[in-house]
Amino acid sequence: MADTTNIPANLPSQRHTEDRYDPQRIEEKWQARWQADPTLYAADPAGAGRKKFYVLEMLPYPSGALHMGHVRNYSIGDALARYMWMRGYNVLHPMGWDAFGLPAENAAIKNKVPPRQWTLRNIEHMKQQMNRLGFAYDWSREVTTCLPEYYRWNQWFFLKLYEKGLAYRKNSKVNWCPECATVLANEQVVSGMCWRHEETPVEQRELEQWFVRTTQYADELLEELDQLDGWPEKVRTMQRNWIGRSEGALVDFKIDGPTGLAGDKISVFTTRIDTIYGATSIQLAPEHPLVGELIGNDPSLHAKVEDLVAEQRRAKAQEDVEGLEKHGVFIGRYAINPFNQEKVPIWVANYILMGYGTGAIMSVPAHDERDYDFAQKYGIDIKIVILPRRTSEPPAAGEPEKPVLPYTHKDSMLINSGEFNELSNEEAIKKMTAFAEEHGFGKRMVTYRLKDWGISRQRYWGTPIPMLFCEKCGIVPVPEDQLPVLLPENVDITLEGGSPLGRIPEFVNAKCPGCGGSARRETDTMDTFVDSSWYFYRYTSANVNDRPFDTPTADYWFPIDQYIGGVEHAILHLIYSRFWTKFMRDIGLVHNDEPVQRLFTQGMVIKDGAKMSKSKGNVVSPDDMVAQFGADSTRMYALFATSPDRELDWQEAGVEGVHRFLSRVYRFVMRHAETTGPKGTSPAISSDGSSPKARQIQRKLHQTIKRVTDDFQGRWHFNTCVAAIMEFVNELYSAEEEITAGKISKPLLHDAQRLLVLLLAPFAPYLAAELWETMGEKQPLLRQPWPAYDPELAKEDEIEYAVQVNGKLRGRVTVPAESGETAIRERALADEKVKPALEGRQIAKVIVVPGKLVNVVVK
Ligand SMILES: [Zn+2]
Ligand SMILES: [Zn+2]
Repeated sequence: MADTTNIPANLPSQRHTEDRYDPQRIEEKWQARWQADPTLYAADPAGAGRKKFYVLEMLPYPSGALHMGHVRNYSIGDALARYMWMRGYNVLHPMGWDAFGLPAENAAIKNKVPPRQWTLRNIEHMKQQMNRLGFAYDWSREVTTCLPEYYRWNQWFFLKLYEKGLAYRKNSKVNWCPECATVLANEQVVSGMCWRHEETPVEQRELEQWFVRTTQYADELLEELDQLDGWPEKVRTMQRNWIGRSEGALVDFKIDGPTGLAGDKISVFTTRIDTIYGATSIQLAPEHPLVGELIGNDPSLHAKVEDLVAEQRRAKAQEDVEGLEKHGVFIGRYAINPFNQEKVPIWVANYILMGYGTGAIMSVPAHDERDYDFAQKYGIDIKIVILPRRTSEPPAAGEPEKPVLPYTHKDSMLINSGEFNELSNEEAIKKMTAFAEEHGFGKRMVTYRLKDWGISRQRYWGTPIPMLFCEKCGIVPVPEDQLPVLLPENVDITLEGGSPLGRIPEFVNAKCPGCGGSARRETDTMDTFVDSSWYFYRYTSANVNDRPFDTPTADYWFPIDQYIGGVEHAILHLIYSRFWTKFMRDIGLVHNDEPVQRLFTQGMVIKDGAKMSKSKGNVVSPDDMVAQFGADSTRMYALFATSPDRELDWQEAGVEGVHRFLSRVYRFVMRHAETTGPKGTSPAISSDGSSPKARQIQRKLHQTIKRVTDDFQGRWHFNTCVAAIMEFVNELYSAEEEITAGKISKPLLHDAQRLLVLLLAPFAPYLAAELWETMGEKQPLLRQPWPAYDPELAKEDEIEYAVQVNGKLRGRVTVPAESGETAIRERALADEKVKPALEGRQIAKVIVVPGKLVNVVVK
């Protein structure tokens, strides 16, 4: 892509080949050199006496090609890695492949290519794309999760989890996609449909599955979120909600009248035991085990409850239980409130879920939104038992004022609650819970929304779960020395009929290590979130073969200093990997409590206001961008278009604009590089301030270094720091005349270009390398110290103030930067444009906002 149409007016017209910025030529030359030098981006071994920095981008699924979301993610990480190298850190910046998963199986069916071959071919291609984009990865540490040298450690971890009672088997209802013929995680169910098959409703099935006991660490996972202050608050909130801890009490309501085998009481979980005197009904989930017994053989009731069950299942599959119109049925039975012995009716309601709490609630309509609506609808009693807390004065006379219902505030005081009257809400919760415990009908209880992690998948392309089933011995783990349990190749893959592994007798039939008899091998494979839960530890010592990784090396590199990825991984991946770290710590494998110190979630890349997708035809391919504008322009645009946490609407004209800017940089340096004076490697900057223009260049240079440095250290608004570099280049162009006239000293001109190239290095590494060499520099750019700025030289000589009179802009004045308030004030009041507005009026006040504004208040 030639830039002849975009030559700025002030550019001299002489043109020969070196004057034209040709990214393809430059980038291909440097790519070849960089790839030939495997030490270039290699991290030093652990403990090499330097301060470490572990920067990591989330590893991609090898789908076949990079998309713009990847390019953005990696451009952020790469800029940071390069900056940290220049800051002198021992940087670890690896890359790998989340290589197991269903798409490989789908591709195998569609294109008749074995999943392994399809996956490795995609990896090859994507790696080549990454290299073309110039990302600085230490490929000697590449991790590919579908290879036995990696997944054997998944199996090893599974055995450890099993040994510690943290992996177990249970029957459970699962989300089942009939198209995928596999179990889906809740998150893979999108409004009741499969995430991959948007038209296929997800079914509920009963299956025996392997689970990992993540709930064992629920409290720690929750509590440590408070310490993760390098994480976005929104991610911490999402995790808190996901863990969903609630503290309350379990209270038993006796069933009135005859009871059967299932028991004579209903246990409810409540976080508001202080309102229990206001309970006017019990609500059961339609699938509560007591329901059948309680309704006896009333066919019409049975039918009604069946309807509720069906309705709730439909809503569950569509993940919209919240949206259900709430209704229920009174089943003609009563329970007894243990606090006041009152009989309350028992209902079955469509909005109560068996999977949450005990599947039964006490309904307190006066003090709960949902209960209130339900009671209004069915004419159930509403009893007020708490009031706004009494302030200093008791109500003047008679009845206290009734609150607006439902009154749900916690800052309240009890009434109509027997011996607990007048207690505050917190006191009441404590005393009433203790009362229930003393009398044997209740206890304190904590519940979580977090569930154990179901890791069984009935698919082929995953880590085989290393377990055996023996008729005699039951469940038997595969002995450690028999790992890995290899995933067989040449498998006939279909999506029907459960796991393809189950159809391979050589795989299924095994010898029992316990009794030597015949055993059946587990045919489920692991959820791929297992792979991504610990992959970043493997990077620290990717080539050890007798352990998952080397502990002292992991100790040196962990925690990850900066992790960068999409917010869609805020919950599962990041909760599972936090869990995995805690488990590894408890078996002595690591010594850190948390895997990630700082987390950054970049915004999505969209096009024309919509998510890029093949069906919308709005996909922008990184290859096309690189072919048209070069890798540097593509990467730099991804950082320049908006701040990295925001959504980026991809504009080709924007990439072209960056290309134009890089052309300007290229031409300027090509024109002046030979005139630059003495060469040196010192980061000190010439103090030439001989002419006003020289001083201006010098000031702008120091200001630009400050802005770029501040952004790397702080808020990461790379868009504004790229803008600052652009302004600096404009400044250089505006000095062409003085340069030609020899009014800018050679050392200053040299420094200006040299430092410009250093500042560009994290954003446009190819062009920076080319210009660096052009200037005669021999040392690799990445090992150059990051430029320092002099705050004195960065200071403005003069500052412009807007002058307002009664808030209205009247004029502008320029004062020396070091001026005090009195001088600024005098200068403002004396201004020719301001004076008329002051005429004949009395000055009441003059407010000086330093660096910005003078506001004169007149009467
Ligand atoms: Zn599906
Ligand atoms: Zn056996």
